[in-house]
Amino acid sequence: MKLLGPRKKVLVTGAAGFLGSNLVDRLLALGCDVIGLDNFESGQRQHIDRLKGNAQFSFIEHDVIQPIDLPVDAIFHLACPASPPRYQKDPLHTFRTSVWGTWNLLELATRQKARLFFSSTSEVYGDAQVHPQPEGYWGNVNPIGIRSCYDEGKRGAETLCFDFQRMHQTDIRVVRIFNTYGPRMHPDDGRVVSNFIMQALRGEDLTIYGHGQQTRSFCFVDDLLDAFLHVFEAQNFSGPINIGNPGEFTMLELADAVLALTGSTAKKVFKPLPADDPKQRRPDISLAQNMFSWSPRVPLKEGLARTIEYFKSEMRT
Ligand code: NAD
Ligand code: UDP
Repeated sequence: MKLLGPRKKVLVTGAAGFLGSNLVDRLLALGCDVIGLDNFESGQRQHIDRLKGNAQFSFIEHDVIQPIDLPVDAIFHLACPASPPRYQKDPLHTFRTSVWGTWNLLELATRQKARLFFSSTSEVYGDAQVHPQPEGYWGNVNPIGIRSCYDEGKRGAETLCFDFQRMHQTDIRVVRIFNTYGPRMHPDDGRVVSNFIMQALRGEDLTIYGHGQQTRSFCFVDDLLDAFLHVFEAQNFSGPINIGNPGEFTMLELADAVLALTGSTAKKVFKPLPADDPKQRRPDISLAQNMFSWSPRVPLKEGLARTIEYFKSEMRT
């Protein structure tokens, strides 16, 4: 029997963020009663305000580092800043968000006998020495660097998920998300896709960190959310599971694609590469493909064009 459907009470932490706000729409369309939760650290109030008056939606302003209790059937735990400049702004709070926050949500899931979906990340693989990255790879993470608050926080949170499962039979689903982009990203969030698009639209230079030869694999948000729902409903499966698009691009290729699609004549400027920036990243998605017959469908150019349209319309309002 499906867990997500009419009258199911579903908590989404990080509901004002990029992925959370898109997920809320999917859950509302399935008929769920959605409770959004956020502290607005990196999210946008407009993503919550647009739902005012929707009887299926309610909102709690709350920081997940504080415990919470409420009746729920299902939890999507997404609360955590995802962009390096945002999560590095207050690394101690980021670490608390990952570890204390996930602990609090796991306590809630255990008490309520609710399934908890945890949004982990490809960052658990660090500067990977295995390429592409399969779920069985344990990673290459610097434990004391500027990205560690996020990477080690997420690794610790994964540990908590599986220890809660072993000790309390908590029903968990752990997904490792690879770089995802699309409408409702914060325009000044600092991640590469939103940076390049906003710079191109504003006629500013595109900031390439390092030589721009590092790679990432970019997944369009709609494809990611299709996979989220498959994983959430899967029986007898906890993960971890990689979700992302295996198409791999250098940052120079991404910059050229954005310039071509926006028709911008902006220049590319080279800035220092931040510490511990992973050199190569591509998900091995065979597990998701085999389990759910799922594969991402939206090619980079199409996804970028849709994202550019979103940012253009935001600039007009
Ligand atoms: P985002 O920054 O747009 O959204 C995160 C949301 O969580 C924001 O609304 C923020 O205000 C909220 N939040 C942060 N700390 C909180 C706290 N302590 N209490 C309550 N709310 C808090 O980021 P996103 O891209 O939507 O990412 C959502 C989740 O997915 C994050 O957990 C992130 O680590 C994970 N993830 C995202 C990507 C990606 O490419 N988008 C990749 C890997 C993992
Ligand atoms: N990057 C860049 N210019 C920017 C922002 C990021 O060249 O304006 C690079 C960054 O150094 C990294 C890649 O783009 O190699 C992806 O960065 P992002 O912050 O989006 O995600 P993450 O590093 O967490 O994958």
